[in-house]
Amino acid sequence: MSDLFELSQKAVGELRGVGPTLGARLATLGIISMADLLLHLPRAYEDRRQLRRIVSLRVGEQAQIEGVVVSQRDLPGRRPGLEVLLRDDEGEILLRFFNMRAGRRHAPELGARLRVYGEVRAQGPRLSMLHPQIEHDNTLALIPTYPLVEGLRQGQLRALIAAALRQLDVDDGLRIDGWSLHRSLHYLHQPPHDADLALLTRARHPAQYRLIVEELAAQQLALLRHKQAAQQRPAWILRQDEALRQQLLAAMGFTLTPAQARVVDEILHDLGRGQALQRLVQGDVGSGKTAVAALVAAQALHAGWQVALMAPTDLLAEQLYSKMQLWLAAVGQSPAFLSGRITGKARRQLLLRLAQGEQGLVVGTHALFQAEVSFQRLGLVIIDEQHRFGVSQRLALRDKAAAGHEAHLLVMTATPIPRTLAMSCYGDLDCSVIDELPPGRLPITTVVLPQNRRAELMLRLRDTCRQGRQAYWVCTLIETSDSLQAQAAEDCHAELCEALPELRIGLVHGRLSGEHKAAVMQAFARAELDLLVATTVIEVGVDVPTASLMIIENPERLGLAQLHQLRGRVGRGQQDSYCVLLYGAELGAAGRQRLALMRQSQDGFFLAEQDLLLRGPGEFLGTRQAGVIGLRIADLQRDADLMSTANALARHWLELPEPELMRRHQLWQGERSRFARA
Ligand code: ADP
Ligand code: MG
Repeated sequence: MSDLFELSQKAVGELRGVGPTLGARLATLGIISMADLLLHLPRAYEDRRQLRRIVSLRVGEQAQIEGVVVSQRDLPGRRPGLEVLLRDDEGEILLRFFNMRAGRRHAPELGARLRVYGEVRAQGPRLSMLHPQIEHDNTLALIPTYPLVEGLRQGQLRALIAAALRQLDVDDGLRIDGWSLHRSLHYLHQPPHDADLALLTRARHPAQYRLIVEELAAQQLALLRHKQAAQQRPAWILRQDEALRQQLLAAMGFTLTPAQARVVDEILHDLGRGQALQRLVQGDVGSGKTAVAALVAAQALHAGWQVALMAPTDLLAEQLYSKMQLWLAAVGQSPAFLSGRITGKARRQLLLRLAQGEQGLVVGTHALFQAEVSFQRLGLVIIDEQHRFGVSQRLALRDKAAAGHEAHLLVMTATPIPRTLAMSCYGDLDCSVIDELPPGRLPITTVVLPQNRRAELMLRLRDTCRQGRQAYWVCTLIETSDSLQAQAAEDCHAELCEALPELRIGLVHGRLSGEHKAAVMQAFARAELDLLVATTVIEVGVDVPTASLMIIENPERLGLAQLHQLRGRVGRGQQDSYCVLLYGAELGAAGRQRLALMRQSQDGFFLAEQDLLLRGPGEFLGTRQAGVIGLRIADLQRDADLMSTANALARHWLELPEPELMRRHQLWQGERSRFARA
């Protein structure tokens, strides 16, 4: 006598036959509790509701047939096999087995009746099935097939799920279009004879809707609750100092774009409310997010708060640091820098100054998250290039605020996030968009070239640099290992140095020390280098306005969003800029399509959306973030249209009594939410 919530408290190990080995296999599928097991939904159904007549079969379809074995013979050759001829009233089909052991084991006797299920193929002029499943029971039904792992069989999983279903015998009350959790799960695991297979296959059956909406709602609920909790704690109130703003703008040497000014105002308005700011700023590459951060940070520092500004890599943190140093000097502030490479006495001193509130602004990497870092009155946290960080990290940093006060949180991302994903990852944040670029930006011309024109490209590169322009050459590698990437970049650097001795060529990759990288970047920024060979470490944020040529090797290895980020390193100055996509030999149709999109569009939002379509959310966000999204059933692309229904349901749930609410949360996010929680 249990409902699904109760089953979420029972381990699968309680089911008969689930020992440690099977338990571990199930765990790799994310199945810990019996509810997890029931929420492990079929990925497809085999239609075994009818027996087909052999004459009616078409090549390519899956079918179940029954007939009599009329002959069989061994198939000689490198992979010996067995061939059986099966006949029903009007037709014949060959069944072929190549795994001899399996073939022998099932070798049917002449004259035996046999029922099999499989894909129909052509064997010369005849029909055949390769390794069909031999059916031993006589039920005719829609048979679910589940995602599996090594060592787990469909039949085993079906039996376990059936056992868990027998324990799910109490309904949960909440119905959507007449469907309760209970009814939906029974339906999907054991669909009735008349189920609409087409709907099920497209995940558009009301039973599936019911579960998808609830899962999305549970996720929205978690984010809404974070937001609510933060709003209930008091936050410092900031009054903008107009003179300070003018002073800083003068130091920056440009006027804000209307979009930047609007976003700064939105943020400052939030900071004046006494409730924690929780805002995401999205702005395409080069839209000037750093200036927005500087203006807001300056106000916060002026009000006497401490400010933490964080970037995902050493290189970016360094660069952000030098920019802040440059700009904020005008308003009498000097930032400090913290990353893994600040060690020993310097580190201890900085930590002390932060803890005692003597240091106002600190710029750094995720080193800022570490437990040893504490602040006396942290008022504002700004995270640049957010998509590299998980939700939990964001919440961890905010928790460094002094007791009793919530720190304001500003997140800036250069990867425009399609709306459904944004709701899913950032549902707890308000959103501002910097939707225009600073004036005078010239479009970047994108050229797609095959590797066999590399030599030609080098000559052009030499001429370009001789005219006083600067260029990037980005090496990409599928391997994610730092050392392999570094090696590729080193090889490429050596090759270019040899081929182009007249150029001054620098090299940055993830294996170099932070100091070394910073020195090379500074040399490039001061135009002491003509060409910078780099790995994708320069993907986000690097800002050297005098560079006007970007060469990306094997761009087919990267996603559109990443290519767009890389390309955005040029086109920041007054000169015409170019991006050359130097593709490899193995470019397939999909790769071709992606490169064509790059050539056609310079709109980050459009490209991000296309990227999401082409690669799916996991790839798009990186596995880390995808793990944080942690959806079991819903698919952010397929189910985008259900997002607002889910959001409305989540808002409705917020009104429920706490225990009820926790149950919903526990059920869907249980095990998984541990790492999404702060
Ligand atoms: P991103 O949004 O990609 O982080 P940055 O903040 O690095 O962009 O800004 C890109 C470049 O544009 C920088 O060189 C910056 O100084 C410059 N910039 C920013 N805002 C303006 C503006 N309003 N007018 C002119 N240049 C600007
Ligand atoms: Mg930036």
